[in-house]
Amino acid sequence: MQVPTAWSYSYGLEAWYQRVYCPASAIAAREFGAKLLAGMAHRTFITDENGQCLDDLVGVADELPTTQAAFVRRLKLSFDMARQLDPEFVERKEGIRTRSEAVWKVARAESNFKMFAPLLTEMINITREEAIIRGADANNPSTFYPVLFNLYEPGMDIALVEAMLDDAFAFTRDLLERVRASGVTPRTDFLEWTYDPIALKDLCPDVAKVVGFDFDRGGFDLTTHPFCVRLGVNDVRITGRITNGLAGAFFGVAHEAGHAIYDQNLPDYMVTTWVEAMRYSLGVHESQSRGTENGNCRSRPFWEFYYPKLQTRFPRLQEVSLDEFVAGINTARPSFIRVEADEATYNVHTRARFRVERGFIAGDIVVDDIPEAFNQEIFDGLGIRPPNDAQGCLQDIHWGGGLIGYFPTYSIGNFMGPQVVEQFRQDVPDWETHLRNGDFGSYNAWMCEHVHQRGMVDTAAELVERITGKPLSTDAWKRRIMSGVRPVYGLN
Ligand SMILES: [Zn+2]
Repeated sequence: MQVPTAWSYSYGLEAWYQRVYCPASAIAAREFGAKLLAGMAHRTFITDENGQCLDDLVGVADELPTTQAAFVRRLKLSFDMARQLDPEFVERKEGIRTRSEAVWKVARAESNFKMFAPLLTEMINITREEAIIRGADANNPSTFYPVLFNLYEPGMDIALVEAMLDDAFAFTRDLLERVRASGVTPRTDFLEWTYDPIALKDLCPDVAKVVGFDFDRGGFDLTTHPFCVRLGVNDVRITGRITNGLAGAFFGVAHEAGHAIYDQNLPDYMVTTWVEAMRYSLGVHESQSRGTENGNCRSRPFWEFYYPKLQTRFPRLQEVSLDEFVAGINTARPSFIRVEADEATYNVHTRARFRVERGFIAGDIVVDDIPEAFNQEIFDGLGIRPPNDAQGCLQDIHWGGGLIGYFPTYSIGNFMGPQVVEQFRQDVPDWETHLRNGDFGSYNAWMCEHVHQRGMVDTAAELVERITGKPLSTDAWKRRIMSGVRPVYGLN
């Protein structure tokens, strides 16, 4: 598997370069190279030789340690799924992805959905084609979406996620009503202030370091849309942005660092056998980023440690007390940008994406109607209507990047994160003291043992149940939301 691993890492490097450093004028010209690398990663993975090797390994899997046996079986599943696509299809989709992401970037900057619509149409068409190749019923478009969702969340029923999303939606609407009725408006002006961009840029790597990102085995860069990607053994990259204020910079990096810490602690055998087609739970991955971002970095004990340091970087914050700051980052407020939404309203954004993408994949929503369909979903949940496409359906890169069926995994992580963090806090009762000292060691070590090193043994639902003894649900998320907002708004 060394050859497809090397090609996969090379492809990852190309995609990372396109998103981080490549000048906009040059991206379309890189289409050929990106297609070639994606195609080679695929071709060298789906060989008969690798198929035979995996069959042999699966035959002796019972003699391997549990985690490695699970990895071998999951790799075989990935192999079978990769083999459903011929290399020409992979290259064709990669070509659309490169052009589509490039156009999305400009369309988003100009808030012009019409500019993006032709490329999005191409992406939707090839994604439907992929669903059919992978076993969906060509005559029944409602079967397309579950097939796509399972690419990102193997073994989970989308109906279970939809039920949790609907439950969270109702909870959020009710909470926003109670927040309005409380008459309390916490101070949040400091989140809108203009901060020195150089100081914000310096803040980002410091945040990553504090929460436990290992800079000897990775790096940080600025980008349009924050993300985390593995570029090789001992090389995990995160990005952040400073264009959306202090909270956007801080929590964006804390989030991506949470992803990266998971990646930096995966078992060695996974990292040295890294193929693009590898299937593992994005919900589990997201639970780790949300745990760091929200579980730790929105808690008062953490800010008792970090707020004086933040005030030193940004002296104007001297006029904002610690209490005001902690309240300001634990509000429940409708807002337009998903990645910067508070914990309470976040799932309304993912639910909107899920419902719209399921609609356009099934043909129930035509491409021209996507902006309005998305805006209506946001209005129904949050009572605000995005004023333009950039703050509406164009804000996220995913559809242009071919990641259709991906959004529900964010909410799986959103619900799973608090459930797992609750268990950690039961197991390590002095967690608050650790955070007060800026010590993330016990948290990361616990997650490493219970989540990261488990590799691909469990699905998201299995892992939650194994760790907490309870099925995955919205319960812990609701408790976490209430513990954050209750003191802010004086709710019961
Ligand atoms: Zn994430």
